[in-house]
Amino acid sequence: MFRYELLDRVGKARLGRLETPHGTVETPAFMPVGTCASVKGVAPDRLRAAGVQIVLANTYHLLLRPGPETVAALGGLHRVMAWDRPILTDSGGYQVFSLAHLRQLDEEGVTFQSHVDGSPVRLTPAEAVRVQRQLGADVIMQLDECPPAGADRDHVAAAVERSALWAARCRDAWQAADGLSAQAKPQALFGIQQGGTDAKLRAESARKLVQLDLPGYAVGGLSVGEGHEAMCGVLDAVDELLPADRPRYLMGVGEPRDILAAVARGIDMFDCVLPTRNGRNAQAFTWSGRVRLRNARWREDARPLDEACDCYCCRNYSRGVLRHLFAAREMLGPTLVSVHNLHFFAELMRRVRASLADGTFADRSTAWLAAMYAADGQP
Ligand SMILES: [Zn+2]
Repeated sequence: MFRYELLDRVGKARLGRLETPHGTVETPAFMPVGTCASVKGVAPDRLRAAGVQIVLANTYHLLLRPGPETVAALGGLHRVMAWDRPILTDSGGYQVFSLAHLRQLDEEGVTFQSHVDGSPVRLTPAEAVRVQRQLGADVIMQLDECPPAGADRDHVAAAVERSALWAARCRDAWQAADGLSAQAKPQALFGIQQGGTDAKLRAESARKLVQLDLPGYAVGGLSVGEGHEAMCGVLDAVDELLPADRPRYLMGVGEPRDILAAVARGIDMFDCVLPTRNGRNAQAFTWSGRVRLRNARWREDARPLDEACDCYCCRNYSRGVLRHLFAAREMLGPTLVSVHNLHFFAELMRRVRASLADGTFADRSTAWLAAMYAADGQP
């Protein structure tokens, strides 16, 4: 039911295909984030039209509200999201460590206070797998500990140890759940590498994970403020640390510059809230840089956001109209710019895959970056 095929390599960059019970994902791929089982403001028909292949939902948020039992009673996550294509759920670990209050961590798991009703919630590796089984995504993630950027080495080393221990427990729970072989299971379990920016800890983390022979591996703990160069330093080693025949997922990374650098270093999957978060804040991604739609210069501009874009927003609305919608606080504004941004990220990944297929990736990504980042000096 789950299979990854490596189709071609260009240097370390990989062109691949991920088969899941809900369809195929061509990689490298970008996953929009549907935090509470909804990609904010964007209905699934627009996701489909943009060419989105797979979306992500957050276990932490769904565990607290409406609860996995309710999601299951409503027909599972695919039914709840009205999305019949692949879905990935994270384990909740990242949000527990970045958002939750009154957190208590021990070897067995983590206890925290629900931000919804203040009740104590316990998450263990087995519980993370159980909850994700109830939600019913195609790809599920191990529970891990993600230390903040700037954490000292002892803290990061302890997180590597604990995450490896939890990966093994998640695998045991996943294996025991239904008696099916790894290939026959309806859900694939991915492990998560930690280790901050320390090369030795990253190698140690990967070595322990790979021993578990999981269907896929994620690189976690990046994009937490370490900066582009430090991220690239960690990713330089990924290709030799992780097996070539499994998909690799870089968690929480979505800045186009970071995506292109990571693809060049052998990453296959990405997720980020950037397209929708920036869309809600009137900021559009285009091939010639970002457009800030609140700017007065667009008041009477009748051009679309991007002349070359064929998304629903660009086919029907001008910059001047979008600026007006934001000024008037109309909810259509955030929706339209989110639709455009999601289309842009899907198109970016289509162009990445096409350029890998025809051998032009290195030259093209240099040209894309120059056009995207030169115009406004944006990071
Ligand atoms: Zn557009």
